[in-house]
Amino acid sequence: NQGQVEIDSLATSFNGMLERLEVSFEAEKEAKEQMRRFAADASHELRTPLTSIHGFLEVLLRGAYNQPEQLLKALKSMHGESVRINKLVEDLLMLARLDRTPSFQKAEGALDEMLREMEPQLRMLAGDRKITIELEPQTLCMYDSDKIKQVVLNLFHNAVQHTHPMTGEITLKLAKLENQVEIAVHDNGPGIAPEHLGRLFDRFFRVDTSRARKSGGAGLGLSITQSIVELHGGTINVDSELGAGSTFRVLLPRS
Ligand code: ADP
Repeated sequence: NQGQVEIDSLATSFNGMLERLEVSFEAEKEAKEQMRRFAADASHELRTPLTSIHGFLEVLLRGAYNQPEQLLKALKSMHGESVRINKLVEDLLMLARLDRTPSFQKAEGALDEMLREMEPQLRMLAGDRKITIELEPQTLCMYDSDKIKQVVLNLFHNAVQHTHPMTGEITLKLAKLENQVEIAVHDNGPGIAPEHLGRLFDRFFRVDTSRARKSGGAGLGLSITQSIVELHGGTINVDSELGAGSTFRVLLPRS
């Protein structure tokens, strides 16, 4: 009868509401947990170089400042640590800006021309490594040129970090696909094990913490890169095999 039908429909919508509440409660819990993890990771990354600077200062204050050799060594190390802190704070600020509604200055332009302009800078970064650059002409796209430059620099910088200074080979390619443009950075470095590939773009993720530590990275470069690419409506992926090098591909919508 009519009353029963109404009760059933009320019960159904009540259940639906409860389910939605549960889902949003879970999402909020997950977001809070992510924030907590982010703050813990960021503090840990800052604490490491600060502890090191603190240690050097203590040694100097205990008298080592009288010995020029020890003084110079400590100053150099502290300088290195401060560079690391600076880079970390810049990366954190960049992530914070990307998380809020970012103000991108997108304009239509030829990506090949932008990459061509970057060539001297890329060659300088690469030192004696062999660089090949293949750019398809008139590859038009809507992009924020500072941000896409940063994407290319991040990927290129990683390729340089992971290749031999003399025998390293890095290829930068730009190609037009049907609806997209592809920027690919390939290196002949050690490659990345399959079990790490899934977490590569996570914040603070590093494959080899001790090795990466020397290069000063906090594992934020690729997550910044991915955010920039996604805010352009694009995607980034990686192809890599241990011993066979890595290829990072950025796909952006073609205009
Ligand atoms: P970082 O800013 O510390 O370099 P990234 O987010 O750029 O961190 O990279 C995360 C990790 O991915 C690095 O610690 C490194 O282990 C690995 N990785 C990135 N690029 C390459 C590459 N071209 N070859 C091998 N490993 C790489």
